[in-house]
This record gives sequence, structure tokens and C-alpha cells, in this order.
Amino acid sequence: EESTEFRRRTDLLFGLMDQYLKNDVFSIQKSIVDHVEYTVARSRFRFDDFEAYQATAHSARDRLLESWNDTQQYFKDKDPKRVYYFSMEFLMGRSLLNSLSNLGIKDQYDVALKQLGFDLEVLAEQETDAALGNGGLGRLAACFLDSLATLDLPAWGYGLRYQYGLFRQKIKDGFQHEQPDFWLNFGNPWEVERVHVSYSVKFYGKVEEEIQNGRKLYKWIPGEMVEAVAYDNPIPGYSTSNTINLRLWAAKPSGGFDLEAFNTGDYVNAILNKQKAEAISSILYPDDRSYQGKELRLKQQYFFVSASLQDVVRRYKDFHSDFKEFKNKVALHLNDTHPAIVVVELMRMLVDEELLDWKEAWSIVTSVFSLTNHTIIPESFEKWPVELMESLLPRHLQIIYEINRVFLDEAQKKVGSDFGRLARLSIVEEGSVKTIRMGNLALVVCHSVNAVSQMHANYIKSTLLKDFCILWPHKFQNKTNGVTQRRWLAFGNPALRDVITKWIGTEAWIKDLDIIAGLKQHANNPQLHAEWNQARRQNKFRLAQHIYNISGIKVSIDAMFDAQVKRIHEYKRQFLNLLSIIHRYDCIKNMAADERKKVVPRVCIFAGKAPPGYEFAKKIIKLVHAVGEKVNTDSEIGDLLKVVFVPDYNVSVAELIIPACDLSQHISTPGTEASGTGNMKFAMNGCLILGTLDGATIEIRDEIGEENMFTFGVHVDDVARLRAEGRNFHPPREFQRVIGMIRDGFFGCEDYFKALCDAVDGGDYYLLGHDFLPYLEAQAAVDKAFVNKKRWTEMSILSTAGSGKFSSDRAIREYAEQIWKVEPCKRPV
Ligand code: PLP
Repeated sequence: EESTEFRRRTDLLFGLMDQYLKNDVFSIQKSIVDHVEYTVARSRFRFDDFEAYQATAHSARDRLLESWNDTQQYFKDKDPKRVYYFSMEFLMGRSLLNSLSNLGIKDQYDVALKQLGFDLEVLAEQETDAALGNGGLGRLAACFLDSLATLDLPAWGYGLRYQYGLFRQKIKDGFQHEQPDFWLNFGNPWEVERVHVSYSVKFYGKVEEEIQNGRKLYKWIPGEMVEAVAYDNPIPGYSTSNTINLRLWAAKPSGGFDLEAFNTGDYVNAILNKQKAEAISSILYPDDRSYQGKELRLKQQYFFVSASLQDVVRRYKDFHSDFKEFKNKVALHLNDTHPAIVVVELMRMLVDEELLDWKEAWSIVTSVFSLTNHTIIPESFEKWPVELMESLLPRHLQIIYEINRVFLDEAQKKVGSDFGRLARLSIVEEGSVKTIRMGNLALVVCHSVNAVSQMHANYIKSTLLKDFCILWPHKFQNKTNGVTQRRWLAFGNPALRDVITKWIGTEAWIKDLDIIAGLKQHANNPQLHAEWNQARRQNKFRLAQHIYNISGIKVSIDAMFDAQVKRIHEYKRQFLNLLSIIHRYDCIKNMAADERKKVVPRVCIFAGKAPPGYEFAKKIIKLVHAVGEKVNTDSEIGDLLKVVFVPDYNVSVAELIIPACDLSQHISTPGTEASGTGNMKFAMNGCLILGTLDGATIEIRDEIGEENMFTFGVHVDDVARLRAEGRNFHPPREFQRVIGMIRDGFFGCEDYFKALCDAVDGGDYYLLGHDFLPYLEAQAAVDKAFVNKKRWTEMSILSTAGSGKFSSDRAIREYAEQIWKVEPCKRPV
């Protein structure tokens, strides 16, 4: 009887869904217009661009969900080993064009909307960026999701659904002002709230011990409980029917926990306390390098990993009755040490809740976790005061102590009584404030620790993590970062995409970027040159229009577009760039008229946010504006030099700038940039690099060829010595002159800029003075090359042709094969 009923119901359900949503123009129009009426609740005869965007997004979401559901069911049926990517940041940007393009239905949407009287590109502009990340680290996570989906890997991302993403940057009188990012105010059609997928997360309280059957058990009695509710974000792969998931957690008050307060009449306070719960997922910390040690941050970290781990274990348990298969079915990857508390949480779950013995639990925990280390300065490793850990996560602190005790015993057997070394290895730092070193904790537990460029790997092995590398050399490896060529080239630069496809004869490079090397054989072809430059000019035109719209500055698209766009930091040396711009301006002013005719016109473009508490970086932003004001209004200069700051740098702004630039600058002091990914995006788009030999720029040089880019500056091995000798160094005359101009108030605000000048006149930690002349020489080489259009175009083509290695598909394939040991699980069409 039961099976008859089952068959009847199944037949009914199949009958109700005769097929997947169709992707012909008419069906798409119908689904958009239906959403206008039934989702957006507007009349189908009257809706504006924003409403059209919403309806279009919802119709795309329907298609994503079909694919998402089937992919997840397929993963369930096959039960492959899965990988979970844990990251505090996912800098996703906009979804509409990317989703339609990955689903392969953008052209149909283009036509469908055109007939309805709308322009897809215009509608796409209506979408607010999902800016749940600061910069490189968060954007890497987003590129990796795209590659995981495209390579059909059974993967999910886990993170936090911040109510406010990275602050919006407003510029007033040249100063940065931070405003909250209300990205959810107009709804988010790309997410699915799963009200029933929720877990309780505990905080504070105490640990009780009891003996059961001769075994000591630890019971954590929490003092606070918060609910984590899942929001799923479908991530479609390109040219595959797989759609994977990014599950983000939002904090909600825990129902029933504070009933006591209600019953005792403290109604108002009980509600206010509950509101405090929501604060946990409310804001993204706006800094990507420095450690702040705020309790809320540790709460965020634990909240997100506790919910994620409960979810992972629940999914595993759906098919497995014990933990014997856990390491064969689950790989957990940590994007930096921010989620590192999860290693202790898994230990706690296995020992305290699943009642595994310590050894068995340890063997699981040390098999499933791997870590990407993004750190290059030791101070940016996170540490938590023991006192804070003890109050917030009392049981975790006990477990950390036990892990450390066993680890140090083992380490002592290897290093003997070298107590200095043991102190450096210890997870617990004994200082005026006793702290837990999250980096050391992760290093002890993870079976693999990877750097993000070859240079970074060398640095880790020889310096930063040397003590650990000596103990466990097998753990350390390199996985050079990558970026997705789909968002950053194929979809973001359609004009160049068509040229590339035409000349390579296939679109296959969109899924296999190595093929792009096929451009090399045509690098001298005048016809390709013409098409290449035509495509790049279109992009320059678009950017010039944007610059005019935001600033009123008219720039010539015949000028060289020279960009330095990235977070503003001393180590990235935007200041060095600015000093050379001032030098250029000064030189032009002092030239005779006929000499000026030889000057190569430049538009110097800056964009980037300064961390809110970082005064130096904020002064740099003001100085860019001050220099711009002087130069851009100088009638003697005209088109020879323009200085532009594009506000509110984010993924969408990057998508506009990167395809449009001739030159991009990556000029960090060697040894300070772990990898960089902006460099890869520019190179892929045929923009030449002016850079130092730092991070992945070294590998870009190896791939593209030294002769096709411009490098300069001190060698990483000399940096420490030069710093030590710093006080005896006399910067060149040219350097002193431009610093003097700032000091003397040539650009105004001399008091405000004094700290900038002092920083390079004194210790000059980032070696601007040392690198200034080599930098000017490299700049002169850039000018000389730009005049030779044929040679420049050839270099541009060879940049793109040499960028195959920097696809995130390559990076993810390496992670999957060498670290996670997971295999593709491709849903049949
Ligand atoms: N922010 C955004 C929006 C990006 O796309 C990137 C580049 O990948 C970054 C920050 C990091 O840039 P960089 O690697 O040049 O510091």
C-alpha cells in the first residue's frame, strides 16, 4: 500500500514538473515578467530598471536553484569525499552577469530584455556588490568557488553573512569617510534563507567534570546561546551542469534560552540581550592585515566554525553511523588562520560529545584540516588573550592546553632542551599578557600548510615558520594563487574575449587557460594588433566616461592609463608612485615647450580603501587628491598628466578599471606581499606590469618574460641589511626635492602630510628612497616602450598569452589533487 502511495505521489510530482525551465527567449521573457508581477509585485506594464533587475535576477535564480538541487542530490547519491572551504571573507561582487554567463544563457537574456525595452548591462549596474571581504584574501575565496564549481568538485564554501560588508568609501575634500554598507537593504535575490537549517552555538559558561564508566567526561554548561541560520548562495560552474553552494550563517537570538529573564519580569532587558546576539554577524572587520584582538571577532570566528562544523558532521552522519570514514569523506580547508578555532571545536565534538577517545579523535582531526597561510609579517598572526579565551570558550582552552602539552613533549624529543625554540613553537605565548597563538595551533593540527606564491613558500621555510618546517618539512608546500579567467577576462572584457577566441580558434580557453598561450604565435600579426587595440580602446573609453562622471575630469584615451588599484598600505607603496608623479610634474613644468612635445601623456589612476584607523593610508588618499588638484587644473600640463582617484574600490570598480589600463603597478617592498592577485588580473587583460620582484609577480615574470614587463628595485635578500643601514643612507637629490615640495606646502596641508615625509626621511622602513631612482628609470623605460606602439601591443598580447598559469582552475586542481584528495563529481546533463 505504501509503495502504491509512493508511486502515485511521485507520478503526480513528475507530472507537475514537465521539464526544466526553458531558456528560449520567449520563456525567459515570460519568467521575467511573471517575477515582475508575482515577486516584485509591480504591474507588468510599468516597471523601472531596478524592478527589471530584481525580476531578471529572480528568473536567473530559479534556473540556478534547479541546478543547485540536482547537484546536491547527485552529491548525496554518490557520497564522494567532499571539501569544505572555510573563510571569514568572500568578496563576491555582483552575481547577475556572472551567473547568466556561467549558465550559458546570457545571450538569450540579452535579446529577451532588449525586446522588453531594457539593456542587460544597465540592469546589471543596479545590483549592489556583495562585499563580504577586504581585498585579496576574500576575492581569492570567491575565485576559488568559481573554479571549484567549474571543475565539478564536490565542494561547499562556509562563511558569515555579514549584515554590513566592507565600508563604503566616500571622499569629501580629498579625505576618506567611511559609511556603512547597507547591501541587504533592497533584498538579495541570490540567497536562499533556510530557516530550518539552524544550529545553536554556545559561549561562556563553565565546564563540569564527571566520571562515567571509569572515564572522565567534560560537560560545557554555556552561559549564552545564539542560533546560526543558514543562507545558501548557489555558485554555478561554467560549462557544466554543476552548481555548488556557499553557505553563510546569520546570527539570531536563540529561542527559549532566556525564558528565565522573561519569567522574572525583566522583559525589556531580555529582548535587548537577544538583539546583542544579532551583532555577531552584523559587521565585517575592515582590516586585512592587522590583528585587533576584539572579543566580537573571536565570537564571530567561533560562531561561524561551530555552525559549519555541526552542519558538516550532520551531513556526514546522514550516511555514516560512526567516524571511521570521516577522514575519507571530509576535507576541511582554512583560508588563513581566522577559522583556526575549528580544529579545537572538532576535537571537542569528537571527545566530549561523540565520546571518542583522545587518540582516535586526534588522528581524525590531524587528517582532515589543511591551511592556507597568507601571512608575511609575524605580527599579523592572530593571538587571543588566554583570559578572553577562558571566559568565552572555557572548554576549548582546556583542549588547547592539552594539545600543547602533548605537542611540546613530542617536540622536545626532537629539539632537545633548546628552550628558546620550544617557546617559539608553543601554542601558548608567555608574556605580560598570556596569549594563544592561533597560527601555531593551526600549524600543529593541519596536515598541510600552503603558501600562496613560490617566494612566499621560500620565505616561510627559511624565516617565518622555520621552526615548524624543521619539525615537519612534509607539511609545507606552495600553491600559487590564481584568479578566475571567466569573471576577470571572458565576462569582464567581452571585447578582448572575442579577439582572443577568434585568434586561438576556440573558446576552450575559458575553461582551460593554458590554451591562451596559442596567442603567442600571432603576437606580431598586424591584423591582431589592430583588433587588440580596438578592443582595448573600447574599454578605455568606458573608463574615461566613468572618470568624467565621478570627477568631471576629462582624460584622453590616447594617453597611457596607468593604474595602482588595491588596498592603501605603506607596504604597497602608493606613496612611491605619488612621489614619481610629483617628480614627473616638476620635470614637465621645467621643460621647454619643444621638450614637452616628447612627453608621453599619462593618466595616473588610484583606487583603494584605507583601513579606518590607519592614519598613514588616509593621508596618502588625501595626498593623491591634493596632487590631482594641482596637476589637473594646471593649464600648462593639459593632457600630459592627469591624476585621478576612483572612489569606493570594490569588485565592480575593479572590473571597470582592469580591462582598460595600459600599465598597472605592483610595487610593494620585496618580502611584503605574499602573492598579490591584482597583478594576475591585469596581466591576463593585456595590461603591462610595472613591478618589484615580490610575491607572485616573480612567477608572472617567469611566465610572461622579463622583456614583456618592467621590473626594478632592491632584491628581497638585501632588504633586511638596507633597513639596518637605513640611518646612514642619503636619498638621492630627486627624492629629496619631491619630499621637500610636500613639506613646503606646495600641495597644501603641509602639517597633515608631515608624517608621510617623516616616515621616509627617517627610518624609511619600506625603502622608498633606495628604490626611487631605479623606479624612475623603470618609468622612463615604460614611456619609451609606449611610444613604440607595435612593440607595446606585442608585449600586451604576450602578457595575456603568458597568463595561463594564473588561472584559479590551475590552483584549485593542485589543491584538490595534492592537498584535499578529492575528485570531480560531475552531474550528468
Ligand atoms: N580588491 C579587489 C576588488 C580585487 O579584485 C583585488 C585583486 O584581486 C584585490 C583587492 C587585491 O589586489 P592586490 O592583489 O593588487 O593587492
